[in-house]
Amino acid sequence: MVRVTNLIKQFGELEVLKGMELNIEKGKIVVLIGPSGSGKTTFLRCLNVLETPTSGIVEIDQKVLDFSNSVSKKAVIQFRSLTGMVFQNYNLFPHMTALGNVMEGPVTVKKIPKQLAQKKAEELLQKVGLANKMNDYPFQLSGGQQQRVGIARALAMEPKVMLFDEPTSALDPELVGEVLKVMEDLAKDGMTMIVVTHEMRFAKDVADEVIFMDGGHIVEQGPPEQIFNRPQEARTRQFLRVLE
Ligand code: ADP
Repeated sequence: MVRVTNLIKQFGELEVLKGMELNIEKGKIVVLIGPSGSGKTTFLRCLNVLETPTSGIVEIDQKVLDFSNSVSKKAVIQFRSLTGMVFQNYNLFPHMTALGNVMEGPVTVKKIPKQLAQKKAEELLQKVGLANKMNDYPFQLSGGQQQRVGIARALAMEPKVMLFDEPTSALDPELVGEVLKVMEDLAKDGMTMIVVTHEMRFAKDVADEVIFMDGGHIVEQGPPEQIFNRPQEARTRQFLRVLE
């Protein structure tokens, strides 16, 4: 479903991603962990081309972008629709209700008739446990509820892969669980997911594969059992020890 080959990203002189490689089968959950500044967010943003990689190849659902060549705007927009992104700070439209937020992409980008988009949006909001909050505006919702709208909004575009960038980092601790629960349900439904998170419990319980990044490259990757119980690399052990 996802294949990344030798992905490099530079910001001016600073090389932030130094040749990332990744292969994810359909339905698998990959969790990215690593110290702050290791390039996790930049990597996610390169996958949906919110950042333009300096070079490398990104393939999602057999559609390929090769950044060693020039890539058209149209190709980027088409490619971006393959992924749904969930941001740390929700990024909801403040002047729209939960329902409006979820309908917006399908109606304006996909040109889906309003009635149909509304029905789909209602189903999705129900799925994330917000059936009774559809007509509330973001300011009327808790952080956990806003983030669940964010997830429903991303799903409304029917992406092939969901990307989560620290989806629970901005939440009060008591609201983290409800968002993780929605993500777990999504994983059980067979969605392919890449998740940047500090929630090690989630990584242990839900991930098929954990990737430990440091300094712009992958230090170690493997099933959670390996990464958390018998990490092979000293750098991984050191990182996990600090978290304990
Ligand atoms: P992480 O998500 O692992 O904390 P980031 O991907 O946010 O790491 O950042 C990796 C490095 O890239 C950091 O050194 C950060 O300062 C730098 N960086 C990120 N975005 C930009 C940008 N737009 N311009 C310049 N440097 C950036």
